[in-house]
Amino acid sequence: MRKRIVAGNWKMHKTLEEGLDLARDIRARLQGRCSEEKEVILFPPFIHLTGIAELLKGLTGFHSGGQNCHHKNEGAYTGEISASMLASSGASHVIIGHSERRKYFGEDDALLAAKTERALEAKLTPVFCCGETLEERESEKQFEVVGRQIRKALFHLPEEKIRSLHIAYEPVWAIGTGRSASPEAASEMHAFIRSEVAAQYGRKCADSLSILYGGSVKPGNAAELFAMPDIDGGLIGGASLQAADFEAIFNAL
Ligand code: PEP
Repeated sequence: MRKRIVAGNWKMHKTLEEGLDLARDIRARLQGRCSEEKEVILFPPFIHLTGIAELLKGLTGFHSGGQNCHHKNEGAYTGEISASMLASSGASHVIIGHSERRKYFGEDDALLAAKTERALEAKLTPVFCCGETLEERESEKQFEVVGRQIRKALFHLPEEKIRSLHIAYEPVWAIGTGRSASPEAASEMHAFIRSEVAAQYGRKCADSLSILYGGSVKPGNAAELFAMPDIDGGLIGGASLQAADFEAIFNAL
């Protein structure tokens, strides 16, 4: 089902106590305003997940997820976490392929395809991130790059699996820089992603997909981004760390 979603990626921020306080604050502001069609997803550091799942238990439209998972289900991989471990902590979602994972941890298309499979096997909803670097945009390779990222990591999956994930378009040059993509540029890429999915899986499947935009979304620019027809919400980094900003972005949905 196509949903409107505001998701917060807390990255490596907040101690456990601070994270639980932030989740409580967000819950207090948004409780009763989320639904099956209009969701909030919190992506805190792993150690927060059990506590946050407890705080959100029973609330419709409120979810939590991991920021990453390993591409295998278990084994001697010190410091890693598997999709099934995330699921056992109460998480329902997982971010796959964030550009910081691609850049700092060398995650490539093949690895991300495997991570997506493990996530789906664990019944998690992957939020699959794609996006071009500044250099790629300046050399007008953005469609080629994003097209490759989604084809290589996702298009081996059967249609019912594609229907059960979300895609986040996050141009790398817009993440954490304060420089968001314009609504028109973001929308153009969202329409492209949807058309690629339609070409592979059919229009009905493409129209059921939630495609989020991420990259310097703030209370001041969320409404114009979310007003675009192919933008179904946002994956928010910096502005998700303040409950008031996150609420204001949710209000823009
Ligand atoms: C992100 O980390 O996914 C992100 C979009 O960050 P920011 O909103 O801070 O640009």
